[in-house]
Amino acid sequence: MYKTIEQQVRRNIAPPELRREFRQHDFESLHSFCLLIFCVSVGIWLLFDLIVSNLGQQDFTWLSMVFITVMVSLTIILNFTRTAGHFDILNLVFIAVITLAMRLVIEGLPEGLRPAWLVLGASSVLYSVSVLPVRRWSFFAALLVTWINLHPFQVPGIHLFELRGIMFLCYAVFLNGLVLYTYLKMRRAKLHNFYMSKVLLEQAYVDALTEIPNRRSFMAKAQTHLQEDDEQSRYLAMIDIDNFKKVNDQFGHDIGDLVLKRTAANIKASMTEFEYARLGGEEFVIYLWGIDQSDAKQRVDALCKRVREDAAEYPVTISIGLIRIRREDSLSNALVKADEALYQAKHEGKDRYVLWQAPSSLSPPR
Ligand code: GH3
Ligand code: MG
Ligand code: MG
Repeated sequence: MYKTIEQQVRRNIAPPELRREFRQHDFESLHSFCLLIFCVSVGIWLLFDLIVSNLGQQDFTWLSMVFITVMVSLTIILNFTRTAGHFDILNLVFIAVITLAMRLVIEGLPEGLRPAWLVLGASSVLYSVSVLPVRRWSFFAALLVTWINLHPFQVPGIHLFELRGIMFLCYAVFLNGLVLYTYLKMRRAKLHNFYMSKVLLEQAYVDALTEIPNRRSFMAKAQTHLQEDDEQSRYLAMIDIDNFKKVNDQFGHDIGDLVLKRTAANIKASMTEFEYARLGGEEFVIYLWGIDQSDAKQRVDALCKRVREDAAEYPVTISIGLIRIRREDSLSNALVKADEALYQAKHEGKDRYVLWQAPSSLSPPR
């Protein structure tokens, strides 16, 4: 099954909205990793700067102070950055600053060591960028900025068409290829996994026939509501299509399915602001909150009327068991009570709702 869905996902191109969602999700899940990369980069740069300042002939200059201030500021900004789009820009600025700062340190080294350290610096930066959650444009711009600031040909005596120059060039091509491949492959794999998990989640929480939320989805959402809205008035409505078996027997299972879809569409259209779901078979449920009792009654009555008067080819009616959820009620307890009220509605002739009353006093609403 997993393989089948995976093949379907592979065949489809992820829509732009999903890609946007993925980028944001990827950034959020890697936010602390990005912070770590920034902090470690600043720390290592500072260590090298101190080594070169003390053991080399270079002093710890005001320029170093400027770089460290800017880099720490960018790291602090990253701490408060919440959107992937902002990170694309911030990361690029950080790379521009740190590669210039690296160049400053490398210029303090003896000339013979500089080309190799420039390439080492570029490798470290590019490796880090390849695993960060940035968009393509930001990645390619980072590649460009890194090589502009850290290419070894800026050192006097290194020429493209001599041994060292050609070796550096070959290594740079190899490095770029490796980093680019890693970046594109990893991004693709992560997008694919995100797409897969979206599809699987949707299938796990949406009823395949009626395309409204299913029981699993309802239980999870209603449970959360139940814990959060204990100050509000809350109602649970259990719905069952009347004489549905007859529809199947008379017109066939396909028409039965059509009726289920139509009923679900009616529930969806009239209860948009509430949680609703298909519980299974021809049973549906709605969790209503933030309305008083007369409103709740009026809403379920209007739903009965809507289904009854739906000018469709295979008309049906529904019965509804309504309960006001009390503070002490658990979700399953509320469902049992709503079922009792539904049973009462069926018993009283169907095509109506019944409000649950304490045992032995279940009474018709009208
Ligand atoms: P009542 O008015 O008392 O609710 O009677 P009913 O006939 O609606 O109730 P019953 O529970 O006897 O019948 C439910 C039927 O729903 C039985 C089952 O075949 C049918 N059913 C359950 N799931 C589906 C489905 O996905 N599609 C179709 N077409 N029928 C379904
Ligand atoms: Mg039933
Ligand atoms: Mg029924």
